Formats: sequence, C-alpha cells, structure tokens
Amino acid sequence: MIHYHAAWIVPVSDPPMRDAWIAVDRGRIAALSRRGPTDGSREVDLGDVVVLPGLVNAHTHLELSYLRDEIPPASQFVSWVRQVIKTRRNHPDPKAPAILEAVDRALAESVACGTAIVGEVSNTLVTFDPLTRSDVAAVVFYELIRFNADDPQGIVERARGELDALAPTDRVRASLAAHAPYSVAPLMLRAIRQDVDRDPFLPCSVHLSESVEEIEFIRSGSGPWRALLEELGSWDPSWVPPGGTPVEFLDESGFLDARVLAVHGVQMTPSDLSRLAARGTTLVTCPRSNGHTGAGAPPLVEFYESGVPVAIGTDSLASAPDLNVFAELATMRALAPSVPAATLIESATRVGARALGFDGDYGTIEPGKYARLIAVTLPSTSIDVEEYLVNGIGPEQIRWIES
Ligand SMILES: [Zn+2]
Repeated sequence: MIHYHAAWIVPVSDPPMRDAWIAVDRGRIAALSRRGPTDGSREVDLGDVVVLPGLVNAHTHLELSYLRDEIPPASQFVSWVRQVIKTRRNHPDPKAPAILEAVDRALAESVACGTAIVGEVSNTLVTFDPLTRSDVAAVVFYELIRFNADDPQGIVERARGELDALAPTDRVRASLAAHAPYSVAPLMLRAIRQDVDRDPFLPCSVHLSESVEEIEFIRSGSGPWRALLEELGSWDPSWVPPGGTPVEFLDESGFLDARVLAVHGVQMTPSDLSRLAARGTTLVTCPRSNGHTGAGAPPLVEFYESGVPVAIGTDSLASAPDLNVFAELATMRALAPSVPAATLIESATRVGARALGFDGDYGTIEPGKYARLIAVTLPSTSIDVEEYLVNGIGPEQIRWIES
C-alpha cells in the first residue's frame, strides 16, 4: 500500500479535496482521505500538485498522425476532405514506416499529455498493435466508409472477420463504426448496427452533423458533398435523400442508442440534441478540429443545456495541432465561459470513460478503480484548481503517478 499526499485531489465523482491522501494498493485505488496513514505504510508527498484521473480522448484517428501539419485549414468542410483524400492517396501502404512511426509518436504524446484512454477510429487497423504495446486503454473502432455498396452485408462480415483475428484484450478492445450518414450506404449502416448489437458491451461511433454540407446532402441530396461523391465515382443513383436532419435520419434508421458516440454535432438543432439525450447517445465534441476543417464552432452551451452526455476528442493530427485533451478543454472554456469548469473536467474523464465502456476501472478517483492518475503542477495551491485545469495545461506540467 502506498499513500500519496497532494495539495489537491479532483476525484470527479466528488468535489475537489484540499490537502488530501490517496491510498493505492497493487495498482488500484484503496481509499481517499483527509488524513495520512497511521499504520506506518509507505508515504509519498507529491507536493504542490492537483491529482486527477487520466483523461479520455474519446475521438481521434491515430493512424492519420503522419498528416500532422500537412492539411491546411479550410473555410469549407468538403475542401478539407478533398485535401485529406488527396494526401492519403500519396501514402497507399498503411503499414509504411513513416505511418507506423507517426502512430508511436502520437501515442507517446498522448500519454505525455495525460491521456489514459482513447477512442481510436481506424480504417486500416494499423493502430491496434501499437495500442496493445502502450499503456493506453482503447476502443479501436474499425470504421467502414462506402456509399455505393453492392454487398453491404458481405463488407461488414469481412470487417468482422478481420476484427475477430485481432485478439482484443480487456484494455484494448475493438468494435465497428460507420464513418458518417453521408458516406455509408443505408443498408450498410444497418449491417454495422446489427453487428455491434451482437455484443452488449461494445460501443459504436459515427461522425454526425459535422458540417453544413452534410445537412444539405441529407436534406436534399445535393450540394458539395454530392459533387464530391460523383467525382470519386461513389455516387449511388438509387439513393433517395432521407430529408430531415442527419440525427433524425440515423435515429429513424434505429442506429442511435446509449452505446453510440456521435462525433461533432456542430450543426445539431435543439431538437436533434433532445433526441440524442433521449437515446442516451454520447456527443463527442472536437472544437479545435471543427475550427480547422471549416465546420464551424460547436454550440457547446446548447450541448450541455440539452442534457446530452458530452465527451471530448482531439480528432486527428490532420485537423488538430496536437493530441492534448487539456488544450481541447481550454478551447471549450474560451467558447463556453458559462459552462462550469467541473462540468468540462467531467466531460474529459468520467463521461468519455463511460461512453467507451471503461467506467468500471477509469474516469474517477474512487476505491476499486485503477490508479491511472496524473499529477499536474500548480503555480500556487490557493487557486481554483478546476478553473486552472481548463485553461491550458502542457505536458511539462504533467506526470503519471506510479502505481
Ligand atoms: Zn473523426
């Protein structure tokens, strides 16, 4: 048993504790208290730090890390997508050393920034092995993207076969995901959903209501997204625009429930948000990416007011400057000064852990959970520590607590 003393502890499940102790036994939290040990067991004074759970990056694409600084900011989302497609075509081998080395660097950066869990979205599964070798817990979402699919069931079955060959662990899990309602055929959305339903615990993910182009395409079947699908040879002339919003479309297709992470939501209406809240779907916001891709600023205050669970993702290094969830929190703080700091921190910890199915072991500092905890250096111990944590923390201020 080791007893850690810190100036502050932010358990997330309870209000911050000043001048407090955490007892850790064989990698798990044994107790939280305001008093030190009396039985002579080992004590470690962490000093002027705030201890909190390792953060959750609920949406990223580590496999795109080689695109860091390669895709310039765009004023229109579809222009950004065109750039990504063009640049990815120059790197046809997903296992090229440059791609794999970038994944390892991205993982090291994530850990240095205090991230304990990632929701990793991958089209190639090359990130699975690097994740199993790391200290990071993860769900690897094998993301399918195909708008004109002749054999949607067959595509999903082949993907399932590839996933089953991976040998997931309790720490690194694998599931299927759909890219987006504008890029996956309706019958394939259904087949993905049916596959995910076979396991009652695995989550699913989808990019949803990210851009105005998506809204226009789902409503009327026209606009820049339609033009891009035609250009790529991916248009399906038998597809009928569903009308309504992308959230209405996915909900009426039976896709949305409490196991789905709906990513972005920049263009969601209040009624879309109510629908998500009613389904228990988690909304994952990635505000820095939204700014970079031309999607716009997410309506964070409306997200929180709607009652929908909000988690946080950095998205990939193709649209974010780094994988630091604390930097994402600082952007959220700037966009939504009225949302309490404690609520933002909960989004970066407990809500993300729950959405990815890891809340039994991570996301809060409570007895029984893993002691996967970080200590953030404080400039002074007499500050509002929650407010401090949402105003930008760099890796030089973060260290992991040995457990
Ligand atoms: Zn994404």
